[in-house]
Amino acid sequence: MLTTFITVSILTFTFINEQNYQAKMIWWTSMIVLVVIRLIDIAEWKLRSSKTNVANGQLGLWRFSLGSVLTACVWSAYPLFFFTQMDIVEFATTVMIFSSIAGGSPTVLAGSRFLTLLFTIILMLPISILGLTAPEQYLNFMGVLGLVFSVVMILSGVKAAKFTKDSIKLKNTNAQLLDEINSNKNQVSNVNSELKLATSKLNTVNLDLEQEVIKRTEKIFQLSNLDALTGLKNRKAFTLELDNLIEKSVENGKPVALLFIDLDGFKKINDTMGHQVGDRTLIEVANRLSAFSDANRCGRWGGDEFLVALSYSDQDTAMSIASAMMTSIAQPINVSGNEFYLTASIGIALAPVHSLNAADLIQLADLTMCEQKQLGIRKPRVFSTELKGKIEASQLILDGLQHALEKKQLYLCYQPIQCAKNNTTWSFEALLRWNFNGKFIGPDVFIPLAEKSGLIKEIGAWVLNRACMDAKHWQCNQRAAVSVNVSIIQLMDDGFIRLLDNILRSSGLPPERLHLEITESTFVDNEKKIRTQLEQIQARNIHVSVDDFGTGYSSLSQLQTLHVNYVKIDKAFVDNIEGKGDAIIRATLFIARELNCKTVAEGVETREQALALSAMGVDYLQGYYFAKPMKNIDLISWKNPISNFPV
Ligand code: C2E
Ligand code: MG
Ligand code: MG
Repeated sequence: MLTTFITVSILTFTFINEQNYQAKMIWWTSMIVLVVIRLIDIAEWKLRSSKTNVANGQLGLWRFSLGSVLTACVWSAYPLFFFTQMDIVEFATTVMIFSSIAGGSPTVLAGSRFLTLLFTIILMLPISILGLTAPEQYLNFMGVLGLVFSVVMILSGVKAAKFTKDSIKLKNTNAQLLDEINSNKNQVSNVNSELKLATSKLNTVNLDLEQEVIKRTEKIFQLSNLDALTGLKNRKAFTLELDNLIEKSVENGKPVALLFIDLDGFKKINDTMGHQVGDRTLIEVANRLSAFSDANRCGRWGGDEFLVALSYSDQDTAMSIASAMMTSIAQPINVSGNEFYLTASIGIALAPVHSLNAADLIQLADLTMCEQKQLGIRKPRVFSTELKGKIEASQLILDGLQHALEKKQLYLCYQPIQCAKNNTTWSFEALLRWNFNGKFIGPDVFIPLAEKSGLIKEIGAWVLNRACMDAKHWQCNQRAAVSVNVSIIQLMDDGFIRLLDNILRSSGLPPERLHLEITESTFVDNEKKIRTQLEQIQARNIHVSVDDFGTGYSSLSQLQTLHVNYVKIDKAFVDNIEGKGDAIIRATLFIARELNCKTVAEGVETREQALALSAMGVDYLQGYYFAKPMKNIDLISWKNPISNFPV
């Protein structure tokens, strides 16, 4: 446009004169107006395409083509109008300018071959023809030059158009490729961002999973190492911890004390107040014990048994801590509005002195605790060699007892129980004897061990059977009963009644000739079960006595709830008949009468005792005064040596 403006102005104003002034100014103005319109058109086109980012399509192309063709036409109008007045210089200048413009057109208009051809033809053809047809030869020559130039321009225009088209094609292909690359890039970046998102999601899931794994590991640890109720270590975990502590104590030469704590009478709380109260009591006790040691050095051994390990603790320190624990447990316990008191028994064993093995140490502390509980001493106790000897002896006895039946080392002796009124034999009490490889072991020693180990059921069944068999064959004492001692553990066994029936059937002994003496050396707090068992026994016409009445667990309160036929007054009261025993015997007689029970006094050793008891109203008497326990075979020849009793 600028070139057009400059060349139009040069051509107009260089060769302007008075005759052609007006015409040239019109031509110049027409060209300038056209140039301005085309500039506006181009500006508008640019503006629109920049706004919409889309070229103005076919219409824009048409407008541009029209502008170009009009420009060529206005150019051509110049020689058409002014040729007749032109001198050689003006014509030559015009041809030169036209040729220059035509020379530039293949470049400027290269986008369209048709437009290039049209532009060149419109521009060059009229001036060339004018030159050719002029009478002057030099003008003809310039006309030829113009034509030749036109042909060259047309050819180069065609070439340029092809080249431009190819370039545009290439450019478009490139742009397409670029688009594809960009879209690929976009896709890749989309995939990348999706991947990033997925990765971050995966990370979150992983984190969650990790936390879940940590949580589960903790849970597994708790399940496998901690007691679910109290949160203290369980057996396995505590034993492991104790083994570690023992190892360290060997390294640093400082002892470790192990405390075995067992609650007294906890079972009663559990049975009378319910398991919930029992559970909360155990939690409370666990909390109180934890105050004395690291939480991970406290354990629950089972039921109401706890363990505490104290490192750097010698015998004296362990004793004082154990005493403090006992005091702490003895403080009132408040659970669900109930206030009650508990006591504990504590046994202590020390490493490395007593053992280097956790399991052994626990066993020794347990045995020490049991011993203390049995003796009823409310003080902690440290394991000792003396105790060790006792425990070993018990173990030896227990081992022997396991084979006593098969080795036929057990036998029964019978001690008569006399009627206080007429000195006739009312019953014979079967008392178990054990000849342990030539050494006599008393039932006071082995019966509690048999009860603890559970052997009592087998041994008791044998005793019952033997006694019934023997009694059935007593020729001289056809009417005397046999009194068999039955441990409460036997009585509580579900199969006991069936056993009783079987023995009665197989021995043929009439049930009324069988008496059962219930000895309660272990406390069993299940009155309902005891009552139903007793009812079943009595329904078979078998009589029941409470043995050792007034000692151990046999107490007045039980007499009230359980119906028995006889009460056996313990030897301890008979021994002390001169003192307080007298009052206790009278009280027992009174209650027994009220409850419709008969009374038996055992351990009667003197005539005075026998007379006093008889005078008091005791129904039956048993003791060395009348006879010592004797073997079954000796019963045949046994004659009551006391002929002047009660008179
Ligand atoms: P228990 O049933 O009270 O038996 C009475 C114990 O006192 C017997 O001791 C008997 O020998 C003893 N005795 C009787 N009269 C006198 C006396 O005048 N003076 C003295 N010092 N002692 C007298 P034993 O035979 O040593 O039995 C002890 C305990 O062992 C029995 O006490 C009983 O509780 C238990 N027992 C014995 N045999 C059996 C059994 O077969 N089964 C069960 N479960 N326990 C048994
Ligand atoms: Mg007895
Ligand atoms: Mg007794």
